[in-house]
Amino acid sequence: MTDIKTLDQTYVAPTYGRFPVVITSGKGCIAKDDQGKEYIDMGSGIGVNLFGYSDEIWKEAVTAQLNAVQHTSNLYYTGPCAELAELLCRRTGLKKVFFCNSGAEANECAVKAARRYAQLKKGDEYFTIITLNNSFHGRTLTTLAATGQEKFHQLFQPLTPGFISVDANDCEALVKAVEENRTAAIMLECVQGEGGVIPLSREFIDTAVKLAQENDLLIIDDEVQTGNGRTGALYAYMLYGFLPDIVTTAKGLGGGLPIGAAMLGEKVEDIFHPGDNGSTFGGNPAVCAGAISNLNRIDEDLLADVRRKSAKVFDTLEGKKNIRSVTGAGLMIGIEPEEGTAADIAKFCLSHGVLVLTAGGNKVRLLPPLTITDDELDTALNVIADAFANGKE
Ligand SMILES: *Cc1c(COP(=O)(O)O)cnc(C)c1O
Repeated sequence: MTDIKTLDQTYVAPTYGRFPVVITSGKGCIAKDDQGKEYIDMGSGIGVNLFGYSDEIWKEAVTAQLNAVQHTSNLYYTGPCAELAELLCRRTGLKKVFFCNSGAEANECAVKAARRYAQLKKGDEYFTIITLNNSFHGRTLTTLAATGQEKFHQLFQPLTPGFISVDANDCEALVKAVEENRTAAIMLECVQGEGGVIPLSREFIDTAVKLAQENDLLIIDDEVQTGNGRTGALYAYMLYGFLPDIVTTAKGLGGGLPIGAAMLGEKVEDIFHPGDNGSTFGGNPAVCAGAISNLNRIDEDLLADVRRKSAKVFDTLEGKKNIRSVTGAGLMIGIEPEEGTAADIAKFCLSHGVLVLTAGGNKVRLLPPLTITDDELDTALNVIADAFANGKE
């Protein structure tokens, strides 16, 4: 532990506050550290390991493709890239997919598509994208600008211009922002993740959809965290019953290998031409083969099971000692303490063998593998309830 910690602290740029744990192996929901200690992982690599560690089906899909072709350039066709795009379009109703390697890049693509659409339809000055306070859209200079959190804006000025943000669930503010700006798009997360696991209200989504229709704006739905079964629907917009113009996703789609996807709806399906966007690794065949396998397993049975486990989490934790609120959807859940910090609660959980995440608004955040067993879930919830009740280690 100390060797790796020292090495890391000496040579890795210190952009992360790490817990003092070296993860060396894992199986399913269980992570193991270099001391042999086991943890129930309720974070799954920030919602990435949909089926947990070292999942046999996913590994087989990826290794079969690795044994054929691990990578080729986007100058050539490959089967997995085309097939994954077809699968995503068939299951969402969107029309075309741009592949890249992360959530931020997928959002960059969405911003490009929306700007180009508005430029063609309305003119050069219609470039404003309205985002929401407490949102999170990534770490590039453009997606930081889209992220409605002042604390992220100070360090790296100037950010990409053309973004303004309003409060989530404030319909009046959204209407006013559309009236006052030459707007290209509204960008939102159906359930705000990093910002505190806050679902948008149905009324707010309805307002955004209506404004978009009346003013020919695009709706960019960032499903980087909420996507791929996480909320108990394949994509969270399906819980609200509308079809966004652009849906971005990443995290869970690859099940542990990097992938980002920007799905383009009818209005923007033909917005890009050869050379307008690109990515060396985008659509990598091994990653896509794993993603196809993952998506094929996210069927109605799995989604129903996610919703059942979600209800169990809410039922178990709501009203427990020192728990002010439980929010979220599916297996994307935020828990706010009455007293104490989410960081201290996370530390308590860690020392008692459960890995949890935190989020804005002093929330403990849970994003367990979708296939977590009932026993694992029960054990983890016991520790978490205990951590809230007893606060400190
Ligand atoms: C994690 C996240 C991103 C950024 O994804 P990266 O893969 O880290 O670039 C963007 N949007 C949302 C909603 C996220 O949760």
